[in-house]
Amino acid sequence: MLEDDPNGNTETIKSNVSPRWGPQHKGAQELANLYSPGKRAQEIICVYTCIALMVVNFVFILRHFHLDRVSIAFLAAFCGIITADFGSGIVHWAADTWGSVELPILGKNFLRPFREHHIDPTSITRHDFIETNGDNFMVAIPILGVLFYNFLTKTPENIQQDFGWISYLFLCSIFVAMTNQFILMTYTSLLLDPQMVTYVCALPKWVLFLQNSHIILPRRHHRIHHVAPHETYFCITTGWLNWPLEKLKFWSSMEVAIEYLTGCKPRDDDLKWAKK
Ligand SMILES: [Zn+2]
Ligand SMILES: [Zn+2]
Repeated sequence: MLEDDPNGNTETIKSNVSPRWGPQHKGAQELANLYSPGKRAQEIICVYTCIALMVVNFVFILRHFHLDRVSIAFLAAFCGIITADFGSGIVHWAADTWGSVELPILGKNFLRPFREHHIDPTSITRHDFIETNGDNFMVAIPILGVLFYNFLTKTPENIQQDFGWISYLFLCSIFVAMTNQFILMTYTSLLLDPQMVTYVCALPKWVLFLQNSHIILPRRHHRIHHVAPHETYFCITTGWLNWPLEKLKFWSSMEVAIEYLTGCKPRDDDLKWAKK
């Protein structure tokens, strides 16, 4: 698969066969139809709540910011981003590898988008802001909630003392919330034109700069995950931890241990949907 051709369309043009992945895939169509009004309502509530908490916490941070805390704030913020990347890897790995869309509540609402993304990777470019970001904004709400509670209940002296912790939580929550937007941008950076012949650039230069300098998830980096059977490079916020975790055989070791303990085969459900 070419790195900028997640649906395998370039090969299609050369060989005149239908693309392997994409909106025409039967499993992808079935999964897309499982998106329900209830799920939509949950996403809308989460997106608005999260944005409100982001703004309020940011105002508090500006109000309590002192220049002498800048180095601790930067270091803590950097650790927050690493934590978000690791968290994205754990959640993505767990959702891709275990469980099934048939599971009550969890399956249709939270595992379905992961299955859909593997068999129709560019479906994310057809989702609006709410559908793209609803679930990640939901995960960021408790972190931002803790931060907000701290600002409300602590004295200004205590807030100064805890400024590193505050910077850590804030950047962690922002990067957790933005993870799916970063993935979307790895697909919108180069979009196939309607005739499926050339790619058109659809992102501002500053986003391309962030991708190319690996401050957010770069598109080439994310394509490594999309090589079937989708068993590596699960970190999708910045992708910084993918290489070290791969060298440590972190994901494969966890899978061996879980399969040994439970008898469940990794990616059974993912494979089932791919074969539809
Ligand atoms: Zn995946
Ligand atoms: Zn992807």
